[in-house]
Amino acid sequence: MTERIPASLRTEALEQLLTERGLVDPAVMDTFIANYETNVGPLNGARVVARAWVDPEYRARLLADATPAIKEVAWGGGANGEHIVVVENTPEVHNVVVCTLCSCYPWPVLGLPPSWYKDPAYRARVVREPRTVLAEMGLELGEDVEIVVRDSSSEVRWLVLPERPAGTEGLSEEELTALVTRDAMVGVAKVSAP
Ligand code: FE
Repeated sequence: MTERIPASLRTEALEQLLTERGLVDPAVMDTFIANYETNVGPLNGARVVARAWVDPEYRARLLADATPAIKEVAWGGGANGEHIVVVENTPEVHNVVVCTLCSCYPWPVLGLPPSWYKDPAYRARVVREPRTVLAEMGLELGEDVEIVVRDSSSEVRWLVLPERPAGTEGLSEEELTALVTRDAMVGVAKVSAP
């Protein structure tokens, strides 16, 4: 039943109810959402990825214990991401992130999730047929590449460290940051050289 009512309407109804009962202040809610939409976004994650590409010691710290390593570089606030785990994509292994249950996502590094990430079709299909779903999203992976689907939850939020593209050896950390996309950090795309 609830599945037939769009999530946006259900959310509005819930917000209205909570507001009527005096449990939330809509102005505070709007500030909170605006913060994640404008101040916190994939740029935070991109800074983390670029630093990991240029600094092997940072990369090791990031892969060993991501949350404090991210706080060194770019941290967009504590909500929805106190425990982030970073996994590295390589020519042999490709990680892709989903939340099969709802839409858990590492807000402090990626901002708010895109609508396709919350889509029940993505959430169900990427687990069963990741290679097909990725191909549909424009990422063709060879049969020899192992795909690992990472299921985010309230306990663990996954962030993908994409492969550094060939031909970017001469780029600065800032120039590399500009190349890193949100989709690459979710694992539905690769980073391309400029
Ligand atoms: Fe979730």
